[in-house]
Amino acid sequence: SFIFYLSHGRIKKQQLYYEQIQQSERLKTTGQLAAAVAHEIRNPLTVVKGFLQLYKDDPEVNNDKKGHFTLMIDELNTAEQVISQFLAVAKPTKELETETVNVKSVLQSVTDLLLSYGLLHDKKIELEMIEDCYIAANNIEMKQLLINIIKNAIEASKEGDSVYIVAGRKKDAVEIKVIDYGTGMTEEEVNSLGTPFYSLKSKGTGLGMMICFNIAAKYKGTIRFQSAKGKGTTVTISFPAIK
Ligand code: ADP
Ligand code: MG
Repeated sequence: SFIFYLSHGRIKKQQLYYEQIQQSERLKTTGQLAAAVAHEIRNPLTVVKGFLQLYKDDPEVNNDKKGHFTLMIDELNTAEQVISQFLAVAKPTKELETETVNVKSVLQSVTDLLLSYGLLHDKKIELEMIEDCYIAANNIEMKQLLINIIKNAIEASKEGDSVYIVAGRKKDAVEIKVIDYGTGMTEEEVNSLGTPFYSLKSKGTGLGMMICFNIAAKYKGTIRFQSAKGKGTTVTISFPAIK
């Protein structure tokens, strides 16, 4: 019965392995298909949005109707955002080159960007940068990573609160901490981060953290979460530093 027990365990393991391979193949094919579909949906959306914009700006259209047009355009914008975010994961564009990234200037431009998009509402970002830091990564991808994480921190925060960003050298690494005092997460929620389409927001895409983890892994970085439900979250992003 001992031999039976051993071989039974081994067969079970092998079965599981094949199932996983099959599953990942299936995901790959459906992923490619979904990317093609998403791409095709984007064009008609742009056309419809363009015409709505025209009607909205038409002086002959009464103000009541204009409100509807604004609503429709907003909804189309959301759809477009979901599609672009999805395409960013499903269909990586050509390899971006690795360059020296100045963490300070990237953080500065990301906070400016969030400000200009009006994403801050009644929330502030306080940036504390101890020294100039450099990492080997890609500027566009670093911005994408930071925007996703800071945006999440802003969205989790209460009105009037601040999101704190502290960045500096730590031994051989550059460490960026994004701290919020918002909704926080349970341990289970933290473990679900990075799962495609995992989102607790009504208008969320659930792709942001997956993009972040992919980018971090590409440049040998790590993203760690410390969170307490109802208290807030500290995200620690760490990348190997270059002198
Ligand atoms: P999305 O922002 O579109 O929902 P993300 O992948 O960026 O997708 O985030 C997934 C989920 O993780 C969010 O819906 C939210 O519930 C949770 N989350 C991420 N960051 C934070 C944070 N700083 N505080 C609280 N919850 C967070
Ligand atoms: Mg997000």
